[in-house]
Amino acid sequence: MISRVFNSITSKFSQSQSLTAAYFTYKAWRQNGLRGTHSSQQSINMTDMSVRILPALSDNYMYLIICNKTKEAAIVDPVNPETVIEAVKNENVELKSVLTTHHHWDHAGGNEKLLSLFGKPLTVYGGDDRIGGLNKKVKQDDKFNIGNLNVSCIFTPCHTSGHICYYVESSTAEQKAVFTGDTLFLGGCGRFFEGTAEQMYSALIEKLSSLPDETKVFCGHEYALGNLKFGNHVEPDNKDILAKIEWTKAKRDQNEPSVPSTIGEEKLINPFMRVNTESVQKFANSIGKPIDTMAHIRKVKDSFK
Ligand SMILES: [Zn+2]
Repeated sequence: MISRVFNSITSKFSQSQSLTAAYFTYKAWRQNGLRGTHSSQQSINMTDMSVRILPALSDNYMYLIICNKTKEAAIVDPVNPETVIEAVKNENVELKSVLTTHHHWDHAGGNEKLLSLFGKPLTVYGGDDRIGGLNKKVKQDDKFNIGNLNVSCIFTPCHTSGHICYYVESSTAEQKAVFTGDTLFLGGCGRFFEGTAEQMYSALIEKLSSLPDETKVFCGHEYALGNLKFGNHVEPDNKDILAKIEWTKAKRDQNEPSVPSTIGEEKLINPFMRVNTESVQKFANSIGKPIDTMAHIRKVKDSFK
């Protein structure tokens, strides 16, 4: 019932922003109860770049990206602006931009409120005119900076037709991270609301898989356990998936986020990143046909419990 309401809401976003906000707030309250958030906040500290993981709603993640040298920061998908402003104060950084992955309310729905609460101008990046507060539209290979960090835009239409992933590198290119919204999840991928299996193949296999294996992957939702259980259904003999299930269970028992994974790890555990392998093609009964395999496993996942 809930998922049916969600599907009808996501397809009619512009019709009722307040109804959508109420739905996500209700879902978060049901999920989190008095705990408030689905996971604890954590920081991933690298030499030149830090990423503060900020849980939001029932299973979303926002990310504060910090250039350690200049203390300039950017926020990915700030659906809960109050949490973002508190993190910016605690980290003592200068927030200058918003990186929006796509227009769905649970990602872009906080942009305008953040702009008004923050008081200073922010550059709001995104690849879709439906994104609230958008003032810098980007496309494939567009580049900009967060302090000394280099950002490159990867256009990944399919979940929505204007979805962008953001690839961030330190100036030495030693530290790498990609913010994948609802395109690539830990162990899974987003639903094909506005695109095709060909487009998801292009996004996951041609674009994201070509990033360096050590690239840290920060995705839009805490869906790891459900995704990995599906991966185990597709490839029961995949020992990397079994090991990651145990690892994730231990993390989630402690209320800790499962993110980040890495691109190299996703190639081992994520069936949607593995549509060129014989075992996943065999599951889909589509040997030699990776795009048919992509379409089939997405369809099976859509109703997998
Ligand atoms: Zn979405």
